[in-house]
Amino acid sequence: MEVVLAKTSGFCFGVKRAVDTVYEQLEKNGSKGGIYTYGPIIHNEEVVKDLEKKGVKVLDSRQELEALDSGSVIIRSHGVSKDIYDIIEKKELDCVDATCPFVKRIHGIVEKESSQGRRIVIIGNDGHPEVEGIKGWSNTPATVIEDMQAAENFDAKSDEKLCIVSQTTFNYKKFQDLVEIFQKKGYDIIVANTICNATEERQKEAVDLAAKADVMIVIGGTHSSNTRKLYELCKSKCEGTYYIQTLADLKLDLPNSVELVGITAGASTPNKIIEEVQNYVRINF
Ligand code: SF4
Repeated sequence: MEVVLAKTSGFCFGVKRAVDTVYEQLEKNGSKGGIYTYGPIIHNEEVVKDLEKKGVKVLDSRQELEALDSGSVIIRSHGVSKDIYDIIEKKELDCVDATCPFVKRIHGIVEKESSQGRRIVIIGNDGHPEVEGIKGWSNTPATVIEDMQAAENFDAKSDEKLCIVSQTTFNYKKFQDLVEIFQKKGYDIIVANTICNATEERQKEAVDLAAKADVMIVIGGTHSSNTRKLYELCKSKCEGTYYIQTLADLKLDLPNSVELVGITAGASTPNKIIEEVQNYVRINF
């Protein structure tokens, strides 16, 4: 029996970089001076709990940040709005910026284009922390567009210039359809396709693997929407698809006819868990 682990399973580049940054900070200075992350560094309870045990605290709001007098504040891969950097600077806290470079690029585009008079349109999910961060780099009020209806209803003066960017994890096809609606309205538009392909690549590889596998194991948090999506995609190709959070959830019963077991994991699943599952299947079956 063969066990194949998808190459793109688990942390994407930006999340890995952010999590590594926190552990590096701990190694350098310990948690004595106070190490804080602005929001949980990753949507994975086990990692956040492990960091908490080591002394890393999570700041859940702007008020909590404003109440700090000292320490290092780590910005996670989603990024934050400009005024959060201003608060950190004003309070003379140490800023450790782990914003993913792909998100940082969007901040740069939004800041530049809005200061040159373009109105910013963000194609993405309103309220998502990454989108909130992007909004906060615009010098003029930014509009968030989630669906066709909102794009159709969008109204601007005919001489208004627009700059359209996208949330990094937005679906490419949907982005194209929404941009098309704006283009039909005849505005002067700059379109920056700022979608990151990490999610798409992970999904594509998982589907290809599931199509060949007799059994597929998808690892990730139950609240992780990208893991759920992976599970659904795999299940559509492979009836024997399991969704587990950790090895403890795995109740595998493999008949002798099984030749290939595929494994993939959502964007917030640590390598340690993926390895445990992989080793278990390799050793026990
Ligand atoms: Fe990961 Fe891409 Fe988001 Fe960066 S932009 S954190 S690489 S999904």
